[in-house]
Amino acid sequence: MFYCAEFLTLSKMALFARPAPSSPIQITRSIPSFSLTERISISRFFHFKRILQASLRSGPASYESGAQASVEQSEIIFLGTGTSEGIPRVSCLTNPIKKCPVCSKAMEPGNKNRRLNTSLLIRVPRPSGICNILIDAGKFFYHSALKWFPTYGIRTIDAVVITHSHADAIGGLDDLRDWTNNVQPHVPIYTAERDFEVMKKTHYYLVDNSSIIPGAAVSELQFNIIHERPFIVHDLQFTPLPVWHGSNYRSLGFRFGKICYISDVSEIPEETYPLLEDCELVIMDALRPDRSSSTHFGLPKALEEVRKIQPKRTLFTGMMHLMDHDKVNEGLIKLKEMEGLDVQLSFDGLRVPITL
Ligand SMILES: [Zn+2]
Ligand SMILES: [Zn+2]
Repeated sequence: MFYCAEFLTLSKMALFARPAPSSPIQITRSIPSFSLTERISISRFFHFKRILQASLRSGPASYESGAQASVEQSEIIFLGTGTSEGIPRVSCLTNPIKKCPVCSKAMEPGNKNRRLNTSLLIRVPRPSGICNILIDAGKFFYHSALKWFPTYGIRTIDAVVITHSHADAIGGLDDLRDWTNNVQPHVPIYTAERDFEVMKKTHYYLVDNSSIIPGAAVSELQFNIIHERPFIVHDLQFTPLPVWHGSNYRSLGFRFGKICYISDVSEIPEETYPLLEDCELVIMDALRPDRSSSTHFGLPKALEEVRKIQPKRTLFTGMMHLMDHDKVNEGLIKLKEMEGLDVQLSFDGLRVPITL
């Protein structure tokens, strides 16, 4: 049995010490006996014991202020739908010669052109609580979470599934320290081995924290290596969708239920198409309105793929500043009448109920 962190009790606390019952290989850090790090881990255990005791005293309802209890159906929340540098671009806002219409609009509060790094939150109600499974935590993750976690009453991060190891997908791993210091003991990360190898360099102190300065409270991450075959996260099956993200660079999309998420793709290999069949919702990379880049689909190519895959509905993500939300969507809605294509741009904060 795997429990979502939101509803853990003290008696379940012991489960944290056990490996997750999923097929991926779990990487455990080697920690020498009686080291300072171990003593930090012990002190952390008592720190979490105090958090959990406090939550038990106040009762589960006040622990989550009632916000979590309102989620009865599974849903996805788009935490970010923009390209790596984010929209608005700073360089557009400081350009003395040319005004960028999309970046200017993106400065208006609540404007749908304001986009941070692509990331999706899957929320699944389970008997033990609501599971919050995140796809990617990029370099703007803190800002996404700051905006949408309080807005939607989201408290825990029960797992993070990684598409690839570019900064806009893993740059926020360090920010998970706020959760592992103050909300839950650790966050399980599901990643391909090639991306784990990158993390060993970019986030070496999170992979092996035996050398960190005593008292430095970094993210407590539990790494699980995934392969190009289905794996289970909190009773939800994920099927990796291997794609090319530039020549010779592999990225993963993921299928869960009848939803396929492919945020970073320049080409879909033939062997991946069967995994996209009979799909209710596809979330697909579409960087710019006119053409593809070497690493991302442009809108014309993304539409070509949608016609081939034939999902019931498609939401595009990963848009740059040339994609004006309202204007592009006005054009896309015409495709519904013309050829029955249900295609629209997503936007940060979009919440979609799903059936899993
Ligand atoms: Zn711009
Ligand atoms: Zn990328």
